[in-house]
Amino acid sequence: MPILTITGVDSTVHVCECCGKVKLQKTIILAERETIGAAPKFLRYGVVCAAQATNYDGPDIVKQARKYEQRTKLLQYTNPNATPAYLGYNGR
Ligand SMILES: [Zn+2]
Repeated sequence: MPILTITGVDSTVHVCECCGKVKLQKTIILAERETIGAAPKFLRYGVVCAAQATNYDGPDIVKQARKYEQRTKLLQYTNPNATPAYLGYNGR
């Protein structure tokens, strides 16, 4: 089972990579890893699919995604060499 991690919100991608639904207001960025520490593949899922994939309630996942996004930005600010792969957050 690949590990899915909520990474952020993307308001420029409007198509769900999971079910192909279009015209979404925003998508949730998920990092998919085969094992902990592996290089992630980034997926953009609609809120419903992202919530299903990660066991979050719909509205909750948006809040979480924004929180992780803030955290990632903060860490990138304090360590400019950090990459999203390095910063990936595992667990809830
Ligand atoms: Zn979908």
